[in-house]
Amino acid sequence: MTLDTRIQDARDDLIQLTQALIRIPTLNPPGENYAAICDYLDHRLSAFGLETEWIRAEGAPGDSDAYPRWNLVARKEGKSKGDCVHFNSHHDVVEVGAGWTRDPFGGDVEDDKIYGRGACDMKGGLAASIIAAEAFIAQHPDFQGAIEISATADEESGGYGGVAYLAEKGYFDPDRVQHVIIPEPLNKDRICLGHRGGWWAEIETKGEIAHGSMPFLGDCAVRHMGAVLDKFESDLYPAMAARTTEMPVVPEGARSSTMNINSIHGGMNEPGPGDTSLPAHCVPDSCRIVIDRRYLIEEPLEDVKGEVIALLEGLKETRPNFEYNLREMNVVIPSMTDADAPVVRTVTDAIRETLGVEPEYVASPGSYDQKHIDRIGKLKNCIAYGPGVLELAHKPDEWVGITDMIDSAKVMGKALEHLLTK
Ligand SMILES: [Zn+2]
Repeated sequence: MTLDTRIQDARDDLIQLTQALIRIPTLNPPGENYAAICDYLDHRLSAFGLETEWIRAEGAPGDSDAYPRWNLVARKEGKSKGDCVHFNSHHDVVEVGAGWTRDPFGGDVEDDKIYGRGACDMKGGLAASIIAAEAFIAQHPDFQGAIEISATADEESGGYGGVAYLAEKGYFDPDRVQHVIIPEPLNKDRICLGHRGGWWAEIETKGEIAHGSMPFLGDCAVRHMGAVLDKFESDLYPAMAARTTEMPVVPEGARSSTMNINSIHGGMNEPGPGDTSLPAHCVPDSCRIVIDRRYLIEEPLEDVKGEVIALLEGLKETRPNFEYNLREMNVVIPSMTDADAPVVRTVTDAIRETLGVEPEYVASPGSYDQKHIDRIGKLKNCIAYGPGVLELAHKPDEWVGITDMIDSAKVMGKALEHLLTK
């Protein structure tokens, strides 16, 4: 029997495994059922002879006794020394949202699709990697090196209670793990080499409260923010649009620098539901925006921050009474694995051999857990590769294709053969 046949024969098992994972609603926030999904995977992988380890990310954002941040790492040693291949999947899913025509935690199967929140992002990928690893171990019981499968928390909220925590504890040290494959839904014939960077900051403009009938006695913070937004439109956005990256980011619009203005708040609070009172007449003394700046690997982070600060300092020079605060909220560094890295070359060959096509190399506009493996783990040999259509992630009626899961499991299995057998 070939490895491909073994994986093909595991079709029903793969479907049931994916359904079982979808039926554990690991919603994040707040971080529900993390222990339940680790427990399920622990039973599954222990039964297959993997050593499992539970790691709680104590003190990570969101970790509490009500919502503990549980992670599971499972490892199978081969018969002789060799590289370790690690499959990392996040087990959390985002909120359900509106617009579903199916039970988001039902795992309905229809035609070639399994439906549910997290089906494509990324319980289908997790299931495919488990089937691939199990079939490989059955096929090559005397393989060399080691295989690891991890299911980690909180990717959807930055990965601090998941991969970042594990990386800090040494789980991704290059002397322990040599190749990392993250089965995020990038499609079965694409290899994702990395992602852009991100910088999040809150900008506040200051004013002075006064009666709304005599605004000249105060100073309107919202008007000051208007001047900031005006500068963004006239200077910052054109400058960002003119910069492009060599990284193969998809969709192509994300090959330039981008910035989303995430929120804006100024003056009185929004009235609550059912509150029909009229506004009090005040000049707002504070206005805040949150910016979500995605930057290119070619842009130094200091420049990204520097150009926003220069713009604000410029307004201080030219605009009477302009005062601001800038508070950095988060930073994500860009990450890009070399196209010549061993894991890239191996998965490229596996896609060619299994699917008979040339893989497409892509990079992600947003980020995923590769950033932590790169920056904290110092491990550069990492890609995202897995089944599913990226555009379905976080959408209603999310699904993953069964044939796609089988095909990508075959690619993963083939990659294991290349890396862990002679
Ligand atoms: Zn994901």
